[in-house]
Amino acid sequence: MTKWVYSFGDGKAEGRAGDRNLLGGKGANLAEMSSLGLPVPPGFTITTEACNTYFEKEEKYPEGLKDEVEKALAEVGRIVGRKFGDRQNSLLVSVRSGARASMPGMMDTVLNLGLNDETVKALAEESGDERFAYDSYRRFIQMYSDVVLGVDHGNFEEILEDEKAKLGHDLDTELTAAEWRAVIDLYKAKVKEELGEPFPQEPQAQLWGAIGAVFSSWMNQRAITYRRLHDIPESWGTAVNVQAMVFGNLGDDSATGVAFTRNPSTGDNQLYGEFLVNAQGEDVVAGIRTPQNITEAARQAAGSDKPSLEKVMPDAFASFVDISSRLESHYRDMQDLEFTIERGKLWMLQTRNGKRTARAAMKIAVDMAAEGLISKEEAVQRVEPASLDQLLHPTIDPDAKRDVIGIGLPASPGAATGEIVFSSEAAEEAKKAGRKVILVRVETSPEDIHGMHAAEGILTTRGGMTSHAAVVARGMGKPCVSGAGSLRVDYRKGELIAAGATLKAGDLITIDGGNGQVLKGEVAMLQPELSGDFAAIMEWADQIRRMKVRTNAETPADARTARSFGAEGIGLCRTEHMFFEGDRIVAMREMILADTEEGRRAALAKLLPMQRSDFVELFEIMAGLPVTIRLLDPPLHEFLPKTEEEIAEVAKAMGVSADKLRQRTEALHEFNPMLGHRGCRLAVSYPEIAEMQAQAIFEAAAEAARKTGSPVVPEVMVPLVGIVKELEYVKQRIDDVAKKVMEKSGRKIDYLVGTMIELPRAALRADAIAKDAEFFSFGTNDLTQTTFGISRDDAASFLEVYRKKDIIAQDPFVSLDVEGVGELVRIAAEKGRAARKGIKLGICGEHGGDPSSIRFCEEVGLDYVSCSPFRVPIARLAAAQAAARS
Ligand code: ADP
Ligand code: MG
Ligand code: MG
Repeated sequence: MTKWVYSFGDGKAEGRAGDRNLLGGKGANLAEMSSLGLPVPPGFTITTEACNTYFEKEEKYPEGLKDEVEKALAEVGRIVGRKFGDRQNSLLVSVRSGARASMPGMMDTVLNLGLNDETVKALAEESGDERFAYDSYRRFIQMYSDVVLGVDHGNFEEILEDEKAKLGHDLDTELTAAEWRAVIDLYKAKVKEELGEPFPQEPQAQLWGAIGAVFSSWMNQRAITYRRLHDIPESWGTAVNVQAMVFGNLGDDSATGVAFTRNPSTGDNQLYGEFLVNAQGEDVVAGIRTPQNITEAARQAAGSDKPSLEKVMPDAFASFVDISSRLESHYRDMQDLEFTIERGKLWMLQTRNGKRTARAAMKIAVDMAAEGLISKEEAVQRVEPASLDQLLHPTIDPDAKRDVIGIGLPASPGAATGEIVFSSEAAEEAKKAGRKVILVRVETSPEDIHGMHAAEGILTTRGGMTSHAAVVARGMGKPCVSGAGSLRVDYRKGELIAAGATLKAGDLITIDGGNGQVLKGEVAMLQPELSGDFAAIMEWADQIRRMKVRTNAETPADARTARSFGAEGIGLCRTEHMFFEGDRIVAMREMILADTEEGRRAALAKLLPMQRSDFVELFEIMAGLPVTIRLLDPPLHEFLPKTEEEIAEVAKAMGVSADKLRQRTEALHEFNPMLGHRGCRLAVSYPEIAEMQAQAIFEAAAEAARKTGSPVVPEVMVPLVGIVKELEYVKQRIDDVAKKVMEKSGRKIDYLVGTMIELPRAALRADAIAKDAEFFSFGTNDLTQTTFGISRDDAASFLEVYRKKDIIAQDPFVSLDVEGVGELVRIAAEKGRAARKGIKLGICGEHGGDPSSIRFCEEVGLDYVSCSPFRVPIARLAAAQAAARS
């Protein structure tokens, strides 16, 4: 026979903290606290299995459940000396839902169940407090009607507000017993009016109504949506907790409260919480009255004139402090607690591991390791890698005053302050003049890249989380608020119009990319730093991880940032980014426009010194660490001028006709550039481009080695190889150039030639490719595109639909598709290793900074991951967690 019900109370329990799957988080912890001998009102938990069986059986209770509940209820009654359903000495209970993971969207708790027109009288008499009894009853009718009977709580709030207004009361606590009785009559009439039936008076009916409602709430839309968003399987089910009531609303020596054993926003090792005298359940969080601080220290710090718990109920406070620290050492983690004090006696109603900010997580983990409560390995596991994003950008000082003028989407984290500019040109000019600006646009386009670079942050009034502004800002690691629809931009007048204010170009604003707020003026900031607790966690992570972490960087600024965040080399340097700037684009355009090889070589000769000096600088910054340089990858037409104005300008500079330029642009037009003349195909058609780049790389390596005195081993990467002979052909050119440079400089240069694996064919032919390739770098952006046959730039519209319809669980461009793309990576890794012992394997797609993808990389045994500079710490931590788990 399956056991459906687990009892707790009186210093014992049938369950344990480890029974979370069966009893839900709340039930398992109530059992655990009870076994620890802590003051927990007795009760029992109906298992998640009962819930699952209920749904399997078309919403019928499993056999034996009723008997078990009856027995457990009798036992609870015995412990507290009462009887459920008894008219004189009635046991009142709470009915609480509790899944494995805490889940908003589940049924709300019902308190004071068992009260009716009779038992309320007995309660009044027995407690000697009529007001308390009727206050409890009205709460019960309100909660039960809302949660179980589906009569919206708004109905009751309205009635109560009307009555309070009529009676001239401000606070609920001011109502007398008689006044509550009148409210109760109105409540009951409302229920009857809404449902056509009276409010249920029979305690058994009340109880089973509530149990059924908890089960059903597992399948309500809110819960289903929440599960989908958080990857919680339906098969978990929810448990139901039924527990004897204790009353925090029994007068001035009673109270209810919530607390954290440490500060959840800073991590400070200080009890932190709030309570309300003469209150029940969630009054504290409901904001009905202003809650009071628990400790005297917190009260003083907050400058509150309401007395602390420490002051008003010193005995209950002392036991609470004692229990808090016992629970924290028992669970070895910061706890989130709920308690009630009934006539001076403390009761514990909940404990669980508390949610916390990234900063607090870091501090708590480091402190607990220092206290000997957890090991360093555990400390590293305690911090969520993705949450580090919060710490890697400047953030608004939590104590600063915020003058919010609008809200958009939190498109790219971090906060920034600057003068408003409405164009990219203005942004650049201001930057040159040493001023800080926020680029404010309706939307951004590729033409705004230079303006976005110059700005501290970007604000758009249109566009979503995947708009151009959002995507580019995230890539740059710049704060961005997108789609702030309540703001209006008037380019002509140069105004940003908000509901309460009109701002002009030059006015200061602040954006908070972490929450989407747009603020007027300058606001105090905290700068990101890899120091203190953060540095300690990183150091411990480095001791655990196996994989190296490199960065994707081509500018000296990015390379330096990445180094300061602990990057161990460059995994991807995209050389095309180096051709866009300043007068380089002109030389680049000359090269593309040239009709002959000689013409191209002449233009390339102009580019050579620029490339070389770029590489020298990168090699110097990386000081002996590996640097992977990818040869030119995108189709040439990307470099050509687009608008008529631009064409005219370039034509003039180059002394050719605009017509010729236009013709060339048209000739280079492709229907599907993503799959067109790009990658190593360019190097095959125009080997002189690859040769120039190779020459720049090797000469730079020689120069940097001479300057720094430490050897530089460049890794030359050939993109988009699918056919072995493509690599053979290009590698031959690279080797020839290397030989020439070495002869000329008289220096031996060690170097590697390898390829990106970004086409399915390359993965399948990896063994043959590995004969020439000394390393593979998985270019999982393109590999995902080509494996799925989905263009990343066009996917946003339908991938969202796919997610909603549950056809895919995650965006494969964010989190590596382990089953498909991952399988290709696995195949290529195995074949590569078989063909070339010790072949270096890495990943350089955006997945290299995604924690769950990093876990996969660890599984297949890659040597390193490479990600954008701002994700380096995230990757270091994720790599450590992955290594510890495998
Ligand atoms: P949630 O999961 O939303 O926090 P809970 O089941 O913890 O819901 O209950 C909500 C509130 O009711 C909490 O403040 C809790 O302390 C209070 N509560 C629950 N059961 C009892 C009880 N038996 N006696 C007194 N208060 C209770
Ligand atoms: Mg709650
Ligand atoms: Mg709770």
